[in-house]
Amino acid sequence: MADKEYLICVDSDGCAMDTMTSKHMQCFGPYMVREWGLQKWEDSILKRWNEVNLYTITRGINRFQGLYKALEEINQKYIPVEGIESLGEWVTHTPELSNDSLKREMEKTGSPILQKALRWSETVNEGVRALKEKDRRPFPRVRESLVYAHGFAKVAIVSSANRQAVMEEWENYELLPYTDYVMAQDSGSKARCIAKLMQEGYPKDKVLMIGDALGDYKAAKSNDIFFYPILARQEESSWKEFLDAAGPRFKGGKYGGAYQREKIDTFMDHLNGQA
Ligand SMILES: [Mg+2]
Repeated sequence: MADKEYLICVDSDGCAMDTMTSKHMQCFGPYMVREWGLQKWEDSILKRWNEVNLYTITRGINRFQGLYKALEEINQKYIPVEGIESLGEWVTHTPELSNDSLKREMEKTGSPILQKALRWSETVNEGVRALKEKDRRPFPRVRESLVYAHGFAKVAIVSSANRQAVMEEWENYELLPYTDYVMAQDSGSKARCIAKLMQEGYPKDKVLMIGDALGDYKAAKSNDIFFYPILARQEESSWKEFLDAAGPRFKGGKYGGAYQREKIDTFMDHLNGQA
């Protein structure tokens, strides 16, 4: 079979797989409330956590950036958060926002807030692993969309999540047969992953990135390829539109121009307007 000339890149968390909402609602937010003893303001703090991490332009930010943003607001609005400056210092200056790097900084400084942040992050990992399979499944119409896409394009998972987790989630639902490449956290930034894939010779107007967060759009833009948004809380209708309109347009060379602009405008309005 002749090699396909189209490439479709698909983000995993919160785009193909319905994993973000449960992780944030069941783990990230509630565990912060518990670790910092914020039960008194729980409802408003969790509402704000979800706005920042799920429903506005900051959707999908790194967990430590999200934590610092939340604690900074809590420090101003509800109760002093001890050591908030040390956390800000680390979040702003570390070359790597990861548990390992946080651990090294904590050992170096002995800062109690960094210790709490690490404990929170590790507990979140345990909590996420324990989430039931029903909390980690593909959105409706993702399977049909992948089958359709794979009919005429190479399909790449382009995710910044842990490779093992991505592979497991896609394998559990037998979606891997509809993919040709798996690019994950260990493959570098999404922009770099797309650039690497394009080195195989796909023309720019035959490459599409499907994603749910600003970072996905930026990765597409930096490679000058098309972008199709999956809108938070409208995932099913977004995938339906991919099947009915966006996919066929892309395949038929009618994606660029007005349609692409409208998709990007709607996406930005959606992320800016839901606070
Ligand atoms: Mg995502």
